[in-house]
Parts: sequence; structure tokens; C-alpha cells
Amino acid sequence: MPVAAVDHSVWANVRKHIKPEELRRPYEMDVDFLYLLYQIRVESGVPLRFISDARSPDQDVGVANSAHHLRPCPAVDLQVLNANERYRLVAAALKHGIKRIGIYPGKPVTIAGKKYKDAGSVHLDNSMQHPRSVIWTRY
Ligand SMILES: [Zn+2]
Repeated sequence: MPVAAVDHSVWANVRKHIKPEELRRPYEMDVDFLYLLYQIRVESGVPLRFISDARSPDQDVGVANSAHHLRPCPAVDLQVLNANERYRLVAAALKHGIKRIGIYPGKPVTIAGKKYKDAGSVHLDNSMQHPRSVIWTRY
């Protein structure tokens, strides 16, 4: 599980869909997870709108033993705008072997004047240290 350091080749390879400047702590992410995420992006066709990636232990968002705290970090939260994006993202994640998924309702959002009433977020992680084959709905 190598870390996606600033000079790692992963950044050139995933750049079409994942840019380090879109993440808060890109250089603490897990390389294999970034490649997996890239495949999920291609498969689903859903843009990766990063809400959260690697988090420091003192960031008290979500549960204390969150996969966002692992290093290298194999976890992200992604904004989805509607039910179809949610479905496509989760379907692609399952197809690519993701076994830990959180599905969170969000607030309706307005982007470029368009309202999305059923927007929300999807947590995906590939932790081997947490229970697997789970889909949860609470932080
Ligand atoms: Zn999360």
C-alpha cells in the first residue's frame, strides 16, 4: 500500500479524472485506491466531486476509527447530485470490489442555477482493517 507522494507516477496516470489540487491531503492517499477510484470514475461516468479524503485524527468529522484516518488513506467522500449518479457510482464501486460504502443524504444543492433536491454524498473506502461487506447510512 504505497503512499501517493507528490512525485509518484500515479498523479500523471490518473490526472484526467483526479487532480491533487481537488483533494485536501492528496499526498497522504493510497496509490492503489486512487487507481481503483479512477476505474470507478471511468466505469460510472460520474464526476468525482471530492468532499473529504485523508483526514487528520483531530478532525472530529464522523466516527473516531474512520478509514479517513488510515495512512496511506484508502477513503473518500464524493458529492452526488441525484439518484442516478448515486446508483451509477455505487454500482461501479461494487463492480470494482469496494466492500465498504456509506450513503448519506445531503442538503439540496443549487449549482449554476439548477436545483438538485436529492443530492447527497457517497463514502467509498478500501480499508482492510475495518469490517467489510457493509453499506451504512450514518456518519
Ligand atoms: Zn467518509
